[in-house]
Amino acid sequence: MAEALRPDEGDYDVVVIGSGFGSLFFVEGFLRKRPDARILMLERGRHNSHAWQIQHETNSNISPLSTFRKPESHKTWNFTIGVGGGTNCWYAQAPRFHPNDFKMKSLYGVSQDWPLSYEELDPYYLAAERKMSVAGSDAMGIALPRSAPFPQPPHVPTSVDRVMSKAQPEFHFPIATARASIATEERGRCCATARCALCPVDAKFTFENGFRNLHAMPNLEIRAECEVTHIDVANDVVRGVRYRHGDREYSVQGDLVVLGANAIHSPAILLRSGIEHPLTGVGINEQAGYYAEALLDGLDSMDGGTITTALNYMLYDGDFRRDAASALIYFENRWPFGLRKEFGRWRQLVPLIVAVEDLPQEANRVTVDSDGLPNVSHAKYSEYAQRGIDRSLKMLEKVLAPLPVESVDYVESRPTESHMHSSLRMGTDRATSVVDAKQVHHDVRNLVVVGSSVFPSCPAANPSLTVAALSLRCAELLA
Ligand SMILES: Cc1cc2nc3c(=O)[nH]c(=O)nc-3n(C[C@H](O)[C@H](O)[C@H](O)COP(=O)(O)OP(=O)(O)OC[C@H]3O[C@@H](n4cnc5c(N)ncnc54)[C@H](O)[C@@H]3O)c2cc1C
Ligand code: SF4
Repeated sequence: MAEALRPDEGDYDVVVIGSGFGSLFFVEGFLRKRPDARILMLERGRHNSHAWQIQHETNSNISPLSTFRKPESHKTWNFTIGVGGGTNCWYAQAPRFHPNDFKMKSLYGVSQDWPLSYEELDPYYLAAERKMSVAGSDAMGIALPRSAPFPQPPHVPTSVDRVMSKAQPEFHFPIATARASIATEERGRCCATARCALCPVDAKFTFENGFRNLHAMPNLEIRAECEVTHIDVANDVVRGVRYRHGDREYSVQGDLVVLGANAIHSPAILLRSGIEHPLTGVGINEQAGYYAEALLDGLDSMDGGTITTALNYMLYDGDFRRDAASALIYFENRWPFGLRKEFGRWRQLVPLIVAVEDLPQEANRVTVDSDGLPNVSHAKYSEYAQRGIDRSLKMLEKVLAPLPVESVDYVESRPTESHMHSSLRMGTDRATSVVDAKQVHHDVRNLVVVGSSVFPSCPAANPSLTVAALSLRCAELLA
């Protein structure tokens, strides 16, 4: 039975569900325009400090697997439940999407166009990069145009990257990352220890080092250990947000309600609440990833300044995307499968991660079981993604041609890229999207969805910078 809070405690300008990337950057943008707005953030997990996380070697006391079901044979999903959401566990790879990722349907006849362009997102990308002090090289502007420099200089490249960038200046770039290349007041300098989910020197951007200011704001409250279960709607308007705290249930009201509980839990909350839209939960996806490794003849690597030093875009965009998915290649400065065993040749290898875009598919979806727990069905990647994997494997030798390569081998597939998107897609047409171009629900006009659940498609690059930029844009349009 819901117990209403007293009205003076319970009415807010904005109630935000979740405190991860989508929610935090929405709040950041909203407060820039309306600094006095009364905002309540309801977060399911607790605040686990950096020190606690390092000591306990985990980002959260709640396992993500305990929060949803999936058929046994289906793929893995990974996320953090806790104040700060994915800012705790992420590796801080922070590339933008490619301009053509936003217009896949009109350019290549596949997937869905986004209801906004890369150019429109550029100022918000810049603002998100500044907030996170993203390091990168302006050379990347060749592939991903930018109207201002990166806030921090690029990390030291490996010897392999130097050869690659010289031979392929239009494709091979130092990584864009929110791992500091220069120490800031809040963050240490990245020293390439390569355990970024639990960065020992606090070099990557997180809730704790990036949004500390929120704690001091008198008009904003982050209420932890409050699991939102339902959103109550009457006459297409949200009338209340129900949540559990301890063994009690509460209801709170906001003029605007922002749903940012991740791409599994946001659709689950809508489904549980009976907020009907045929695409709610439909199309959940992430990139298909695999490891490859090239052995080199006489060129030592592993001498770069951070865990992943470069991105290669040779297989990212082109007319081939009509038929096969794009692939982004990560050049690693670590040795997940060990160093070489031959005497004196330990470092003559390049571990690669290849991430391949996928499509939202009807059969891959979030539903809710009779006890209210989300159930995620994802039997397989699309044929389009599989063709992208095959194409990238065939092309790796060509990509690596500037290097003295002895052999290139596929090592294994990756169980998850730790991303998830597209379960509440955005678009201009209600028939093909759940939220509109401003991320407002098509049917419930004081309900906004933030986070990677709104992605209309599944580009090969990491999602969080785009989540942040979209939230800043959404907040500016709505505040
Ligand atoms: C190990 C790992 C590494 C990653 N590395 C990268 C990377 O290098 N680069 C990159 O771009 N992305 C990375 N990601 C992905 C990144 O974390 C996500 O893309 C991002 O967090 C998505 O933002 P979001 O706002 O949609 O969800 P989240 O950031 O997950 O936020 C959702 C929030 O909602 C809360 N919540 C859930 N259910 C409820 C409820 N019922 N009531 C209240 N609150 C609720 C959660 O606790 C969480 O705080 C990584 C993820 C993992 C797991
Ligand atoms: S490489 Fe090491 S220092 Fe750099 S962000 Fe990752 S864990 Fe932190």
